[in-house]
Amino acid sequence: MSQTESHTFQAEIQQVLDIVIHSLYTDREVFVRELVSNAADACEKLRFLQAGGTSAILQPEAAIGIQIRADKDAGTLTIADTGVGMTRDELVKNLGTIAHSGTKAFLKAVADGQKKDAGLIGQFGVGFYSAFMVAKKVTVLTQSHQPGEPAWRWTSEGAGGYVIEPASDLPRGTQIVLELKDDTREFSEKERVEGIVRRYSNFVSFPIEIDGSRLNTVQALWARNKAEVTEDEYREFYKFIGHDSETPLYRLHFTTDGPLSIQSLLFVPAQNLETLGLTRVESEVNLHCRKVLIEPKAKGLFPEWLRFLKGAVDCEDIPLNVSRERMQDSTLMKRLNRALTSKFLKFLAEESGKDAEAYDKFYVQYQRCLKEGILADNEHRDALAKLLRFESSTVDAGKRTSLAEYVSRMPEDQKEIYYVIAGSREAALSSPYYEVFAARKFEVLFLNESADEFVLDRVREFDGKAIVAAERAELEVPTQDPVEGQLNDEQAGLLAGWLKSTLGDSVDNVTTSKRLATSPALAVERDHYLTGTMRRTLKAMNRDRQDAPDVKPDFEFNPRHPLVARLEQIRHQDPDLAAKAAAQMYDNARMAAGLLEDPRPMLQRLNELLAQVLTPKA
Ligand code: ADP
Ligand code: MG
Repeated sequence: MSQTESHTFQAEIQQVLDIVIHSLYTDREVFVRELVSNAADACEKLRFLQAGGTSAILQPEAAIGIQIRADKDAGTLTIADTGVGMTRDELVKNLGTIAHSGTKAFLKAVADGQKKDAGLIGQFGVGFYSAFMVAKKVTVLTQSHQPGEPAWRWTSEGAGGYVIEPASDLPRGTQIVLELKDDTREFSEKERVEGIVRRYSNFVSFPIEIDGSRLNTVQALWARNKAEVTEDEYREFYKFIGHDSETPLYRLHFTTDGPLSIQSLLFVPAQNLETLGLTRVESEVNLHCRKVLIEPKAKGLFPEWLRFLKGAVDCEDIPLNVSRERMQDSTLMKRLNRALTSKFLKFLAEESGKDAEAYDKFYVQYQRCLKEGILADNEHRDALAKLLRFESSTVDAGKRTSLAEYVSRMPEDQKEIYYVIAGSREAALSSPYYEVFAARKFEVLFLNESADEFVLDRVREFDGKAIVAAERAELEVPTQDPVEGQLNDEQAGLLAGWLKSTLGDSVDNVTTSKRLATSPALAVERDHYLTGTMRRTLKAMNRDRQDAPDVKPDFEFNPRHPLVARLEQIRHQDPDLAAKAAAQMYDNARMAAGLLEDPRPMLQRLNELLAQVLTPKA
């Protein structure tokens, strides 16, 4: 039986290939970085197995490293490593069938016209396919490190799929041979390739040779003195470990001596790929001990909500022989996590003070993560609360303010921090709940995501001031001049009694309002701990469950409002019409409060009222 087999690429991979082959013409040199990065990963995996000492390894004497060969005459470039290699199944799985979660996100980013450049490739973990930007044919020769596994040759010209066949006499590891296209032959020139590799080779922790001469002296940038690292070195390091050609939003390079001894270099990518949907970012912070890699993309080093960070952490206190599994839930890891998280949040607070505009860029990309942190993490909640920003009634539209700034602006007679949830600034400003704040000149935060209310509910207070939903604020408008026709206390009391009996069971207390200036009425739910928006959000998330009990709001009316004065008159002349009008007023108020669950009876009544209004007078 011949072992030569032809395969087609999985559909999504085929799509990625089509884009790579036909539409990426700029920055094509990133393919070198991607292939060297894969070679380094393979070496890293082998070194880890070797350190474990439990599995037998083929050709144990072969030194771990990466060799690059440029053949100008043949027009080929070969990137070889003595890492783990691949078995036949791994070849099929890794290079042809299983789409990484990033594949879909990559396709979406390109389809969204977000940007179409080679920089996207590594970012989404589809780095191997970048080879097809420059090669008309790619050959992968590979020998797994597992003794007894045969060697394989994988070839593809991109479009038509790939072929796998047996190979023989290969050294351990993988060789990627690229037959370059006519317009990319520059990559078969030693000087050209060397120039590219040199820029980041020092961050690869294995020797890299090009045509036999050693390129790099292994350097751990994070372990070097900050003052001696150049911007260029930082930039290239980030490109290499972050697979990202955009300048990061933030960089934090620091060392601590106690209680843990940490050296760390962290980056915040310019783009949060999660905002594109479809993908969940995974932390890309590598854990080292005295420059030796303990775990790439270490789990548990940071809380989930800081999963966007990229970089390196080096901690001298880690025992070198510990297994990754044991490490993940060790007390040391927890202490490391706590120390790193606090340090990073402190850094963000400092940066936000230094350059608010830069912080805003960060906030736009990562506010969801900070809010996730507030909901998930008691320990860092106070530090996170300082990092929140909201639109507000006293800052210009489109600008954001912090809770600390809010508190600093509070007039003496204001005791609490107030917010409203509103789809827009205009809606917030015209809401009946806002009237009392406008009258008292109290600032109100505008939340534009209903989830924000859960976040503030969790924060609870800031600087000793309770954070309160505007609709629940116990505030009164300052004394207003009497208006013509307004109800006096006695009339208002009678109307309240009548309203209570007319509206019946659906209402709790009916009172005159002390916080309305221009609206006729408002509804407010005081007893239930969920506000109107919270109820709506919960319902939307979980349509079938009826666990939010029925609400029975209070109804407040404005005795100075002409509509209310008319109602008081008409209820003596036309009780039927008055009852309908009262019910409608109440529904309007409940609607504004997000407390009206089923609008159908209201529409029915509206139609009846319309019919009445439109009936020709006899
Ligand atoms: P990523 O590196 O983000 O996983 P790539 O497209 O760059 O995505 O690589 C796909 C997979 O192919 C890798 O995860 C790895 O399993 C395998 N691979 C690629 N190059 C090598 C190599 N030189 N040695 C061993 N495995 C490799
Ligand atoms: Mg890769």
